[in-house]
Amino acid sequence: MSHSKAATIFNKDEKKVNWHDKALWFVRHKRDKSVHSVEGWENLRNLGQGIKAHMLSNLDNYLIQFEEKALKNGVQVHWAKDGDEHNKIVHSILKEHNAKKVVKSKSMLTEECHLNPFLEADGIEVIDTDLGERIVQLAKEPPSHIVLPAIHKTKEEVDELFQEHLGTKPCGGDPQYLTGEARKHLREKFVNADAAITGVNFAIADTGGFVVCTNEGNADMGAHLAPVHIACMGIEKIIPKQEHLGVFLRLLGRSATGQHITTYSSHFRKPREGAKMHIVIVDNGRTEQLSRPDFRASLQCIRCGACMNTCPIYRRSGGHSYDATIPGPIGSILSPGKDLKKHSSLPFASTLCGSCSDVCPVKIDIHAQLYKWRQIITKEMKQPFVKKVSMEMMGKMFAKPSQFEKVGMVARWSLRNLPKSVINSKPNVWGRERDLPKGPKESFDEWYKNRKKNE
Ligand code: SF4
Repeated sequence: MSHSKAATIFNKDEKKVNWHDKALWFVRHKRDKSVHSVEGWENLRNLGQGIKAHMLSNLDNYLIQFEEKALKNGVQVHWAKDGDEHNKIVHSILKEHNAKKVVKSKSMLTEECHLNPFLEADGIEVIDTDLGERIVQLAKEPPSHIVLPAIHKTKEEVDELFQEHLGTKPCGGDPQYLTGEARKHLREKFVNADAAITGVNFAIADTGGFVVCTNEGNADMGAHLAPVHIACMGIEKIIPKQEHLGVFLRLLGRSATGQHITTYSSHFRKPREGAKMHIVIVDNGRTEQLSRPDFRASLQCIRCGACMNTCPIYRRSGGHSYDATIPGPIGSILSPGKDLKKHSSLPFASTLCGSCSDVCPVKIDIHAQLYKWRQIITKEMKQPFVKKVSMEMMGKMFAKPSQFEKVGMVARWSLRNLPKSVINSKPNVWGRERDLPKGPKESFDEWYKNRKKNE
């Protein structure tokens, strides 16, 4: 299903759409307040972008350095070329340790590789321990946002879900009660887990250590209690030096939720006594993206979600309408690189307003890359007949100012004089969801010239 069709379904519940829009805009405001309180925020962004761009240009060296250091620290390092290999490696580690119960903190990479169903098919219990992730796991849905996975669910819906799966009492969506019950439920899972899986926010080449950021402390609970810790990371998570962490931790928390820093920024370097630590480093299409000059900067992403919170399309179409692990503006750049046919509608799910690029803490030129994908898709894929013909006509019209003026005159007259049933008739797809304004008598050009004359 194309993004626009899926968005139409989401848009049927107007109340929910408005609430979703407002909730994300609130987070965007918190981000603005937080970043404006930092003197030199732009310098920090420049630094973040520079470090990431340097890392991407020297990725092979930094990955090897990271592996060497991690091995010295007593960590077992595995390499996976794709999602399938990643899942098999994780599965084999769990088998080796006879692990049947696994707790997993938020990791978009494991979502991307579809790790949960792979392990569950062999009878391994995988419990997502991030509250939002646990909510969507109980609802049998994928996350709809990379930082706020259950942002599409109201508290009343969570109430019902918990009653059904956790046996809680009806509470009218009381967040305090619901989080308390979730905590009790998850504590039992942490205590009995045979292994913990975490994601990786930053892997440091010069120490072999890595950092996992959460607001709930769930990654720490899992990794500190279970005898086996498996950390899964994409190859782009590397940063060269420990001292660079100060840049990224400040950029991440503020851009994601407006916090000065994520509540738990946990540093892992070696397994604790008697325990095992594994790192699985995954490519899964990233080197291919790296080889595309126009899109390689998308690998700088630190997964803060700010581009989603600010995007007018994302806020009003919901994360599931993207049908991709990473939704929103950055997902619309990453997904076509993996499957152009399946995700060909995503680069068009944007107003190209550039707000995503403005808020991106590592200065990815998101809107420019969306535009690039549009050009590629238009060239490489068959376009719907009506769209193709109308775009060609528009192209011709915009090429000649005299023609443009004539068409503008007819359009303004039509908007003023024709009845709505004609203006919003079937061929006018735009008019299906909107009322067009009354056409002005003069064009902008005429208005400007008249104004100048009367000055
Ligand atoms: S593209 Fe930029 S704004 Fe969007 S999630 Fe990644 S780092 Fe954040």
